[in-house]
Amino acid sequence: KKIQPKKDSYVIASDSTFAPFEFQNSNGKYEGIDVDLVNRIAELQDFTIEFKFIGFSSAVQAVESGQADAMIAGMTITDEREKSFDFSTPYFNSGIQIAVKKGNDDIHSYEDLKGKKVGAKIGTESADFLEANKTKYGYSVKYLDTTDALYSALEIGEIDAMMDDYPVIGYGVAQKQPLATPIPREEGGKYGFAVKKGKNPELVQMFNEGLAELKRTGEYDEIIGKYVKDGS
Ligand code: GLN
Repeated sequence: KKIQPKKDSYVIASDSTFAPFEFQNSNGKYEGIDVDLVNRIAELQDFTIEFKFIGFSSAVQAVESGQADAMIAGMTITDEREKSFDFSTPYFNSGIQIAVKKGNDDIHSYEDLKGKKVGAKIGTESADFLEANKTKYGYSVKYLDTTDALYSALEIGEIDAMMDDYPVIGYGVAQKQPLATPIPREEGGKYGFAVKKGKNPELVQMFNEGLAELKRTGEYDEIIGKYVKDGS
């Protein structure tokens, strides 16, 4: 028996750019793993959605304030976030990693970040990691608003290193961005679709049912394979 939607349309907030999870293609249309998954799940489970690609920390605030019903934005399920959000079953395994400009030969460990400027996108797991370890390793942290701003800051040398989710860095490398990853990744982050704690429980159930169906039919693997070629 199918779960009944309780709203005519659900507003789903997302990041503005977080390829391969959400990004504008050459026609200006948003696509990516998160976009394709939610669109297919909504079709399978018979509910209507409207995406709003407003940026990661704006999406968090939109869900917390009730302006959006849910978010999907390569969002890592953390204990801290579980205090204010209910998450779906995890849909993607991820983790975070330091990246430097290709050709930079100075940085091989966190210790080598001493005295350097390291960037991360505001409100993210990478930002939290950098903040928590900055005294230990002696770097300073620069917060950028968007992934585009973060990667450009590295490219123009405004920061010496940055931290981001490794599938996103890997996608950049596959797109021939001049990046290198000299420090092993921090494994273990898993992405979830999130609603405000206690709100829209049927939406999470429909997401979970739809995700299970996409996994059963192999369509989940097709969606991932469309964007991630080498499992990186
Ligand atoms: N996975 C990271 C987090 O949840 C980054 C998400 C993002 O930048 N869209 O904080």
